[in-house]
Amino acid sequence: MPAIQGSTAWISGAAQGIGLAVARELVAKGANIVMADLLDETKGQSLAADLCQLGAGTAVYDRVDVTDTASLHRSLVERPQEAFGCCATIVVNNAGIVVNDDAGDAKIKSMMDVNMMAVMKGTQMAAEAIRSAGKKGVVINTASMGGLLPLPETQAYAASKWAVVGFSISCRPLKKSHGVRVNCVCPAMTQTPAVGTFFAKKFKEQDANHPLLKDQLLPEEVADAYVALIENDKLNSQAAAIMPQVSYLH
Ligand code: NAD
Repeated sequence: MPAIQGSTAWISGAAQGIGLAVARELVAKGANIVMADLLDETKGQSLAADLCQLGAGTAVYDRVDVTDTASLHRSLVERPQEAFGCCATIVVNNAGIVVNDDAGDAKIKSMMDVNMMAVMKGTQMAAEAIRSAGKKGVVINTASMGGLLPLPETQAYAASKWAVVGFSISCRPLKKSHGVRVNCVCPAMTQTPAVGTFFAKKFKEQDANHPLLKDQLLPEEVADAYVALIENDKLNSQAAAIMPQVSYLH
């Protein structure tokens, strides 16, 4: 079982929601983490300082737009070296956005760049960095329930998340070639400030008793799945589903 204690991790979309909950759990377990997000530097550094109070590991903040390939490389590959003298051996490609299907081509493409392209590039960069350092590591990508099942309300978002699942479970050979396991997490409705709030509003508008509004997940519950996938070194190219409301589809 790879130790989280003393390891170096990089997490995107770490300023709120699921990413922040994963960051908290990893720091509490003694990891040194780079929290990467779009949030401004001052607020981000303050979040990182709060996490350092947890006592076990440490956190630094790095403002980055994951859709900018050069910036992503600097954040994911160079920043952990600068901050902790080691490449990130735990990489969580979690940043994601959602837009309506009628948002127009430019916005849909921007969503694909965040949800799909940045996840693929982040995985590939992590694998190269870990192999070059002669280490072993794990990448966890955030997909969605909408990456395993139909999500008729947001078809383009569903497409971006099916891509994350398809990509992640196709990375199985990286364990042998790079020493890197790639897995993904597929959460159902989770109470978070942006994506979760978007879906809650959308479903409430359709039906105040919409089944997906019942039994919503907390970010902390979802974060436990990341920890399980990180700690169990037998798990490779797995899509871990956390879907309490799955019966809604029957
Ligand atoms: P969220 O939407 O509140 O947080 C997302 C974070 O990603 C924000 O801090 C945001 O600033 C950051 N981000 C967005 N674009 C970025 C970019 N280009 N570069 C860097 N950072 C960027 O909360 P969330 O719901 O925790 O979303 C996290 C992930 O979980 C997303 O991939 C989302 O699609 C996925 N997801 C969410 C739910 C849900 O119900 N909340 C369900 C399934 C999957």
